[in-house]
Amino acid sequence: MADFSLTELVPGVFAAFGGVCNRGIIATEGSVVVIDSGISRAEALPLREAAQQKSGNGNIILFNTHEHLDHTFGNEVFLHDTIIAQAAVRDVLATNGAKQLADIKQNPQMAERIGDVHITLPNVVFDQQLTLFAGGAEIQLMRAGPAHSQGDAFAWLPQQRVLFTGDILFNTLVPAMPGGGDSLKWIQSLTYMESLGAEYVVPGHGPIEPPSALGALKHWLETARSRVVAQIDAGAEREAIIEQVGASMHADYPRGSEIRMPNAIGQIYSDIVRERSAS
Ligand SMILES: [Zn+2]
Repeated sequence: MADFSLTELVPGVFAAFGGVCNRGIIATEGSVVVIDSGISRAEALPLREAAQQKSGNGNIILFNTHEHLDHTFGNEVFLHDTIIAQAAVRDVLATNGAKQLADIKQNPQMAERIGDVHITLPNVVFDQQLTLFAGGAEIQLMRAGPAHSQGDAFAWLPQQRVLFTGDILFNTLVPAMPGGGDSLKWIQSLTYMESLGAEYVVPGHGPIEPPSALGALKHWLETARSRVVAQIDAGAEREAIIEQVGASMHADYPRGSEIRMPNAIGQIYSDIVRERSAS
């Protein structure tokens, strides 16, 4: 894993690299807002240290963009801070976090990377939207899920025109699509994010790219969905659809982390079957 580093996008707004996911620090005056903690104490410590340096004696507020381990398992380092998230993040971590931690630690490499952590829950939750006025920054936290996960939300800074998407955006990579998400809502959330007119967009994973990256992932999801629909209508079975649509998406829209393709197409298939049985 690369070393911790910060890139200042506009004065006082930083993207933080060097963890499994991309994170951020918003430090305009006094109070500091941190976007996502990381997968471990080791990932979270330099992030909180940087936030503390920038805050002086101000508060530190952590925002978890969603419940996944690579964004929340470092929360323990922020134990005495305010930790904000969409309500489902707290619910999922409270119900499932300890089991998820035990399961992932079955993998010795992951056990070493995560080390000794205790699941630490958000202590402030919201349903649809919450606005923070931290130092000189207005930060709008808005629900985007269930899309990539149950508790997806993003942070939008209307004055600075910076958007932290969480895992609604994977740049240059096949998106991770674990169970519990919804590809249709995901497309709607990307459409809404495009409408904000951000100048800087920080994805949950992958490099920072121009804001048109939102449209590129939306197009990828829409195309994959329409190809799965066409195959279902032609009478193909799930496994054949995963194989055929995966191969055609790879050929037409190559992205990194190709290993995630079968799972992604399988999730899209499940979404479409669910949508059809509900209508
Ligand atoms: Zn995630």
